[in-house]
Amino acid sequence: MKIVVCIKQVPDTNEVRIDPKTGTLIRDGVPSIINPDDKNALEEAIKLKEQRGNVSVSALCMGPPQADTALREALAMGVDEAILLSDRAFSGSDTYATSEALAAAIKKLGEVSLILCGRQAIDGDTAQVGPQLAQKLGIPQITCAASLELDGDIVRCRQEREGGCEIVQAQLPCMVGVTGAINTPRYPSMAGIFAAYAKPVAVWTIRNIDVPADRVGLAASPTNVLRTFTPETKREGKMLEGSAATVAAQLVGELERRSVIKRRAAR
Ligand code: FAD
Repeated sequence: MKIVVCIKQVPDTNEVRIDPKTGTLIRDGVPSIINPDDKNALEEAIKLKEQRGNVSVSALCMGPPQADTALREALAMGVDEAILLSDRAFSGSDTYATSEALAAAIKKLGEVSLILCGRQAIDGDTAQVGPQLAQKLGIPQITCAASLELDGDIVRCRQEREGGCEIVQAQLPCMVGVTGAINTPRYPSMAGIFAAYAKPVAVWTIRNIDVPADRVGLAASPTNVLRTFTPETKREGKMLEGSAATVAAQLVGELERRSVIKRRAAR
């Protein structure tokens, strides 16, 4: 059984700032990490490999050459193979063009039973790439998975919903987008880290996958970004003072005044 985990290298967003003049991300001095949900996807794949034995796990990343470090981390965690999809032809790709290239790379990997993605990337934040991949590969998808269980050729997940959850199942091959609730990713061991730097990371360019040049890159991207900016914080703050009972009464009064809560009529 083959599992492909799609991982994206992202800037550590707590530190991301936007240049107010150019509207672009200030990347200088900002560390890059594996997108957090994708680490959960890696952990889930490696767990399945450990539990079942007959599983091989490939990590796939589309990005610039420096995304090699994300794939080394995936190798150190325990994946069998790492592929970096990197070519100038892919630059400027929006989610549509990104999933086009990733889908072509997955097809090249042969018979893949399970594709694991993160629910969303912390920088782009669209949560579109996983579902687009499923659509382009013509396979079912389960998004927002907080658990995953394989039962023959069925994958069963607890799907997180607003206000609850549902158990959803689908036939393999399937794309599952996982959330951070699914597991706790392991730290790579020191031996794993050394081994990861002795292993190859395959670099595939557009010539290695079956995708026409006019389906990837900026020209093939239907999304137009009009402006990127940090919204100004205009939240007003009000400190309530006094005893706990006074503060509670003031708070209830304030919430009623703003129609956030409504007092029930006394019976
Ligand atoms: P989501 O859809 O939120 O990600 C969901 C999951 O999909 C991830 O958890 C991961 O598992 C998988 N995934 C997402 N992206 C990748 C990836 N690259 N490799 C492997 N798995 C992945 N970005 C650039 O870096 N360079 C550019 O030049 C560039 N140009 C752009 C131009 C336009 C017009 C637009 C709209 C975007 C551009 N981007 C560029 C951003 C890029 O399109 C997105 O970062 C990318 O498509 C992923 O979208 P997302 O971050 O919303 O991921």
